[in-house]
Amino acid sequence: MKIIVCMKQVPAGTKVDIDPETGSMKRLSGETRTNPYDLFALEAALQLREKLGGSVTVLTMGPPQAEEMMKDAYTMGADDAIILSDRKFAGADVLATSYALSQGIQAAGGADLIICGKQTTDGDTAQVGPAIAEHLGIPHAAWVAEIVDADQDSIQVRQDLVSVSQTSKIPYPCLITVDKDMCVPRLPSYILQKESQDRPVKIMTFDDMLDHNLSRYGLVGSPTAVERMFAPPEIEKQVYFEGDAQKKTEDLFNVLVKKKVI
Ligand SMILES: Cc1cc2nc3c(=O)[nH]c(=O)nc-3n(C[C@H](O)[C@H](O)[C@H](O)COP(=O)(O)OP(=O)(O)OC[C@H]3O[C@@H](n4cnc5c(N)ncnc54)[C@H](O)[C@@H]3O)c2cc1C
Repeated sequence: MKIIVCMKQVPAGTKVDIDPETGSMKRLSGETRTNPYDLFALEAALQLREKLGGSVTVLTMGPPQAEEMMKDAYTMGADDAIILSDRKFAGADVLATSYALSQGIQAAGGADLIICGKQTTDGDTAQVGPAIAEHLGIPHAAWVAEIVDADQDSIQVRQDLVSVSQTSKIPYPCLITVDKDMCVPRLPSYILQKESQDRPVKIMTFDDMLDHNLSRYGLVGSPTAVERMFAPPEIEKQVYFEGDAQKKTEDLFNVLVKKKVI
């Protein structure tokens, strides 16, 4: 059973620097940490390896300083780590990021199961996981709240969607994105830190990709254009109406009249 976990380095705080000229995120200009959702993805993968055997590889696309995050993944129990790092990957939107990651997965020999976090705390689109699956042409389930069961052929997952809870059995190869609180990420192990301190982190570049069509990667392969960045206007304080239906209706009516809506 080969599992690949996609992990992203994000800014440590909530502040994301934006280049006002290009609208691009200058994500890694300050202190960084592992995207919190990806720790749940890694823990889920480690638990599956304990149950089914096999290996867990962590994969990221980012600058070489992502090595620190990958070393942290070793101290939790990951077997291998790969960074996709090349200037040709820079400036990628969701489409180009997910394409490069799908290429990296193929260049690494593929996987039975790919696990991503549900979303990141910087880009926050929650689209990269499903987009990787689409590029690879494999089934996926997003927003997984629980891994109900897994064997050597398939995984059974529960997704808690906005108004419905759904349980599906998906054959490998497949991809899932996991929600927070679906497990408790383990703490780094001192023993694993000692054991893995000399274990290298593999760097893959554009040259290692199977598809060398430059128009699919980085800024060139990114159709998204940020036209304008602005702070949204403050939303007016919410008003709650109390009382029975008659009173609530009258109060609402009075507010609408006062605001000249009616
Ligand atoms: C026009 C435009 C320009 C941009 N320019 C830049 C830029 O110049 N520099 C820059 O850094 N960003 C840039 N971005 C942001 C970048 O595209 C997103 O950060 C990226 O697409 C990932 O999306 P997300 O953070 O929303 O991931 P989500 O879809 O929210 O992430 C879900 C999961 O996918 C996986 N994942 C996501 N990203 C990675 C990754 N890189 N490696 C491994 N796993 C991952 C993780 O498991 C994560 O939990 C730009 C975005 C746009 C729209």
